[in-house]
Amino acid sequence: MTRHGFFVVAFLRRERLTFGCADERHSAVQAPPILEARKLTKTYRSGAGELTVLADVSFEVERGSTCAILGPSGSGKTTLLGLCAGLDQPSSGDVLINGASLGNLDEDARAALRNREVGFVFQSFQLMSNLTALENVTIPLELRGERNVADRARDLLGRVGLGERSGHYPTQLSGGEQQRVALARAFINQPKLLFADEPTGNLDGETSGRVVDLIFELNRELGTALILVTHDLELARKTERVIRLRCGRVDQDSGAAS
Ligand code: ADP
Ligand code: MG
Repeated sequence: MTRHGFFVVAFLRRERLTFGCADERHSAVQAPPILEARKLTKTYRSGAGELTVLADVSFEVERGSTCAILGPSGSGKTTLLGLCAGLDQPSSGDVLINGASLGNLDEDARAALRNREVGFVFQSFQLMSNLTALENVTIPLELRGERNVADRARDLLGRVGLGERSGHYPTQLSGGEQQRVALARAFINQPKLLFADEPTGNLDGETSGRVVDLIFELNRELGTALILVTHDLELARKTERVIRLRCGRVDQDSGAAS
């Protein structure tokens, strides 16, 4: 299975535990940032020794805000996103989503938190090929045990311009259409936090513009905080903040406290 294939299976994994995390009744004043990365480090062991792909990365993301992560290929962007979304675990450091420390949760509890708070759009779409567009969109809610979810999924497919295509399988859809299904899936649980890994990387200019507009529209309507990994400077210009990674470290952060 590809690395992203693993991520998507982990992401959609059935939650079995209920758990209490950040108290939703927190007053607005006390509400924690939607995301905190604290001194994240990720190392891999290789034959020659240890490879450090992320070193001491820290930042906070406010609710409803928009942020782009830029950096050359291999600088650790995908690794960072995987850690922040709880799809992968750091070698040291911690991630807090809505005030809940992922380091204190087991895999089932992390899956439950993701399912409740997080949407993820993968560069290569990662739709389930044996499910229709509609079924791909409803799957996160079905895993949560919710019923009668088809109407909501149909609404969202309509929003992304695929109202007529809900019965189609991924192979019957173009790349841009598949990415729009993936967006509808990422927003079906009305996440407070959306991670997108080069969401326009595989799309042509026009389709890419449409996907970007949709992401920001959903941000404005649902107040979802956006964290977008991108090579696309045009896209990065639309976000309120840009974090640049270089060799696994934060090189520049336009939102850092000075
Ligand atoms: P980016 O998304 O910025 O292109 P990645 O986060 O995918 O970068 O990768 C950062 C570095 O980590 C790369 O050098 C990559 O080869 C390395 N890397 C990623 N995953 C693994 C792994 N499972 N084992 C060893 N090295 C890895
Ligand atoms: Mg990457």
